[in-house]
Amino acid sequence: MPAYKSNLEVQIKQDQKQGMGLIDHEQTDTFPVWKFKGGSTTIYEENQVYTESAEMLPNKNQLLKVSKSKNQYEILLSVMQPPFMVVKDIKSSNGPEYPLVVNSIIRLGRVEYKVIEERNKHLQTFKAPCSIKSSFLSDSNVTYQCKFCFMEGRQSKDQLFLTNICRCAGNGQAVHLECLRYWVDSNINKEVTQFGLTLKWNKQHECSICKEGLPIRVQYEDEFYDLFTLERPDLQYILVENINKDKNLCNEVYLIHSLLMDNIKIGRGFQSDIKAQDITVSRHHATIKLTDGNFVIQDNKSKFGTLVSIDKKVSIDCAACSLQIGKILINLIQADQIQKGAPSTQHKLTQLPQINKQLDEDEPQMDDDSFQLENK
Ligand SMILES: [Zn+2]
Ligand SMILES: [Zn+2]
Repeated sequence: MPAYKSNLEVQIKQDQKQGMGLIDHEQTDTFPVWKFKGGSTTIYEENQVYTESAEMLPNKNQLLKVSKSKNQYEILLSVMQPPFMVVKDIKSSNGPEYPLVVNSIIRLGRVEYKVIEERNKHLQTFKAPCSIKSSFLSDSNVTYQCKFCFMEGRQSKDQLFLTNICRCAGNGQAVHLECLRYWVDSNINKEVTQFGLTLKWNKQHECSICKEGLPIRVQYEDEFYDLFTLERPDLQYILVENINKDKNLCNEVYLIHSLLMDNIKIGRGFQSDIKAQDITVSRHHATIKLTDGNFVIQDNKSKFGTLVSIDKKVSIDCAACSLQIGKILINLIQADQIQKGAPSTQHKLTQLPQINKQLDEDEPQMDDDSFQLENK
């Protein structure tokens, strides 16, 4: 294993414009750039001014820490907002693409999608955890009455009651999972597409009485239950939900399976397979496809970029990449690899920036919580 000789270059760009909180990725060349090239250091940010010091500066805000050891770099971010990978800036042998796995959040302008379920190429299924609100309490000693069918019963696996699913109180707080699902199904249009299935809600996914938004899945003990009917294929697939930002409610679910007939176009244009009706989305903004048995996303020269949340399970080989954190762009470049022309497969970018966590010199589990840029 050859020792890694070149220096890592860190470029930090800051969008100065006010506005929607989006970075215009067609204009990033005009941003002021702060650069660092070298080995171990800590980079501090204060009022958009960056300083670098190998010594600890205890009174300053740390942004990221670069540690060089033998043939790898670790990059530990200390940020309040979640970091996103800027897909078009990835320089790797596969080209600029980033894998989609369970829990991945995809941002196209203001539109956000989340991968809530994944069945991988080994046909193992993973489901994103439900929020606390959508996990229902069970008290098997209490008799509940379903507000839909008026039947009474106790919480059990064959007759699941949802309680506290919305703000309805008293007699209106319990409903059979089956009864609610039957009602939700009547509000969904299903369409078979070239990539699988599209489910669209034709009215708000909310309680018809108290107007509180409803979850689309709930958890009871270790099991997840959909509040809609969807038969899974016996294939590799991902299940993607689209959140309506105004109401923070799911309004679309896409089942994308591995027998897709063509690459999936996402955008505002009428020819898109997945249509995102928002002015911040480009006509053909991004493409989802299968590469080496993995679902990946590519950017299609979009104005506001294609961003994917960085995931612990994902590791990509790359010579350069960019992270976006709010209005800050951090470019990580292994300059010698870029200059040689062909993108390198020698360097591996693994995970994971820890959010809301202070940097600590003596943190023992730092390896798990850091970004690594390393030789294979
Ligand atoms: Zn019922
Ligand atoms: Zn309600």
